[in-house]
Amino acid sequence: MTLTQGNTIDFDSARLKLSQATSLAGTQPAQTSELSLDAVKDRLTQQLQTSLEMDRILEMFFQELRSFLGLDCLEYRLDGNGLHQRIGQPGLHRCSYRMTHAGNFLGEIVFSRKKRFSESQLLALETLLGNLLYPLRNALLYREAVFCAHSDSLTGVGNRLAMDRTIDREIKLSIRHRSSLSALVLDIDYFKQINDQYGHACGDEALKAVVNCVRGCLRDVDELFRTGGEEFVILLSDTPASDARLVAERIRSAIEGMQFQQHGDSIPITASLGVATRQLDEGVRELLERCDKLMYSAKRSGRNRIGIQ
Ligand code: GH3
Ligand code: MG
Ligand code: MG
Repeated sequence: MTLTQGNTIDFDSARLKLSQATSLAGTQPAQTSELSLDAVKDRLTQQLQTSLEMDRILEMFFQELRSFLGLDCLEYRLDGNGLHQRIGQPGLHRCSYRMTHAGNFLGEIVFSRKKRFSESQLLALETLLGNLLYPLRNALLYREAVFCAHSDSLTGVGNRLAMDRTIDREIKLSIRHRSSLSALVLDIDYFKQINDQYGHACGDEALKAVVNCVRGCLRDVDELFRTGGEEFVILLSDTPASDARLVAERIRSAIEGMQFQQHGDSIPITASLGVATRQLDEGVRELLERCDKLMYSAKRSGRNRIGIQ
């Protein structure tokens, strides 16, 4: 039979548990380790402050609980943030906690093991959970900060910093796997006119519409970045030149065919693109410079077209 217990735990109750730890430490849970609860708490406090990475924190927490309480599995989930981590193999007996702090949901954590949890083990588990809450909250804040630092707040796509990091990694991968890496630079045509004629807010909506449209033309593995006002870079991993041209043409034609409406007006939008595929020994800067030049040659040739090498 599966034991499933649901609980909600918040920082205030966690603090209460922490202050009760001394009395609890006297009543040893039926743990598998020789260590006392106090010693495990001290170790956890030391260890969990050494990282802000969610994966690392959960791993350290799990390892301590595994040796202290014979835990077989820890599963953490925060829907909406796309966070789901499982460490170990799930056991039959489970207990779960929904963690909150100051009204904010911090996720659900499920512990399981093959053997039943005794009452004292559950108490110890909850006490130790108190040690996880602040590091977990800090890891979530850190994750959010890193995400914001790498994303464009208007459109939600990666920004220039994210692109610099990603393209470096993509080039290394393409060298290692001897695969083709193609890049596209896209610049919206006469974008200033949209702002001038319909206002900046409408320009913002146009940028979001273009992003949605481009996303619809890409595979999951392709990456889109906003690198300037109305300028974007698209990275196509494992994509040879001929395929990259097809993708560029699909994007160009999808933007041209987009029905962008604002306050009853239909506003035509087009874009010019430069497409290049990484040549042997070519670095990031050279590849993007070639894309840029090809995009500008598309502009000079009349816009709403693709510059190819
Ligand atoms: P071209 O066809 O040569 O690319 O002409 P263009 O008008 O698109 O290019 P230009 O560089 O002259 O104008 C780009 C404009 O993009 C100017 C700037 O005000 C606008 N812009 C930059 N960032 C934003 C933004 O976040 N929102 C809005 N609405 N406009 C922006
Ligand atoms: Mg432009
Ligand atoms: Mg531009």
